[in-house]
Amino acid sequence: MADRIKIVLDEKEIPREWYNIQADMPTPMKPPLHPGTLEPIKAKDLEAIFPMNLIEQEVSRERWIKIPEPVMEKLALWRPSPLYRAVNFEKALGTKCKIYYKNEGVSPAGSHKPNSAIPQAYYNKIAGVKRLTTETGAGQWGCALSMATQMFGLDLKVYMVRISFDQKPFRKIMMETWGAKCVPSPSSDTEVGRTILKEFPDTPGSLGIAISEAIEDAISSKNTKYSLGSVLNFVCLHQTVIGLEAQKQMKIAGDYPDIVIGCVGGGSNFAGIAFPYVCDKIHGKKLRIIGVEPTACPTMTKGPFVYDYGDTSKKTPLLPMHSLGHAFIPAPLHAGGLRYHGLAPLVSQLLQDKLMEATAVSQVECYKYGVLWARTEGFIPAPETTHAIAVAAEEAIKAKEEGKAKNILLCWSGHGLMDLAGYEKYFSGKLTNYHMPDDEIKKSLTNRLIIV
Ligand SMILES: *Cc1c(COP(=O)(O)O)cnc(C)c1O
Repeated sequence: MADRIKIVLDEKEIPREWYNIQADMPTPMKPPLHPGTLEPIKAKDLEAIFPMNLIEQEVSRERWIKIPEPVMEKLALWRPSPLYRAVNFEKALGTKCKIYYKNEGVSPAGSHKPNSAIPQAYYNKIAGVKRLTTETGAGQWGCALSMATQMFGLDLKVYMVRISFDQKPFRKIMMETWGAKCVPSPSSDTEVGRTILKEFPDTPGSLGIAISEAIEDAISSKNTKYSLGSVLNFVCLHQTVIGLEAQKQMKIAGDYPDIVIGCVGGGSNFAGIAFPYVCDKIHGKKLRIIGVEPTACPTMTKGPFVYDYGDTSKKTPLLPMHSLGHAFIPAPLHAGGLRYHGLAPLVSQLLQDKLMEATAVSQVECYKYGVLWARTEGFIPAPETTHAIAVAAEEAIKAKEEGKAKNILLCWSGHGLMDLAGYEKYFSGKLTNYHMPDDEIKKSLTNRLIIV
């Protein structure tokens, strides 16, 4: 029998519970610090921006957390997502490795982001919240939350990083189609935005700035809370449906991965595919787990593990994480979703504990493999996703040279149909690589950071 190239699960197989890795981590998480007092933060301090039900999830140590029925119903629109084997991509590389990919691009918004947008909208709704604010980089999170808030009858305002707002105009139209309001960040709608615009009228913006604006709006508006699409513990938690499904599908395929790969912006899709496998690894399984970032924003490979703010204007609690400094404005690369100065504390701690590895790839290399992927597998990957693909390809080629055959599993985080400008630039030879010079990073880190 030919190898199966697509493994689809029945709707009944959607996980009923999220997996909370905090229950199994060898090193307990360090607490977030209050931005004013620098003391460990109290749950009620977070209530200005998040509803209590999500704050409880953020600090929970329970291994399994039940997914509410109304959330299950929405997830069932596209979950379980299919697991594919990239047979033609393997052939093109001439490798004996099997490359499996979990296709999160099949969601209505085109990425893994709705996995957390839907529960976040739901928990805010049942807490009595009427309106949410958020930031978006490439526009994927803004789209996902627009769809989710529409499903649960909430209003939404999205602050979209200027460079992406200009590069990806269709994203804004998608958000408006789902009923949200979207403005470029920095905007003149907030104090933070106005201050930054005055000093740097031509800034491409950053996620750090957009987060500051969204938080200011949430704190100063009625019945409004803030929503974040990555980084936080509960976002990583919500994304574990990816890995839990993949484990069932890999079992059906009859293979166990030697290598699990995900691209890393704030760390959420990586957490989604990886955490259930990190659990296996903690319990003695032998496998490698690799997070991939751009060389232009090398948070994991060059940023130290420190306490830092999540935003530019130092409004958020300080989180224990790998960071390039909260004032860091990454080069305007096309993988907008990977332009973040910080990293999920959970992923940061796993990196510290060597339960995973990190690597960085350059933009041109990523597009090279992204195009090969489209020409062999059909699906056009998001620029973010090409980072995972590039490392899967490199590992497969390395295995070939060593005469080995490995099972590789990657998280195919989203499609690139809204990101075609980057492909156009690649084809015309105008795409360039950015490597963050070490002294630039040093300069960025002189902003006060507390060393862990
Ligand atoms: C947002 C996004 C990412 C990066 O965010 P993480 O939180 O690190 O997952 C990666 N891929 C796609 C398609 C995205 O939309």
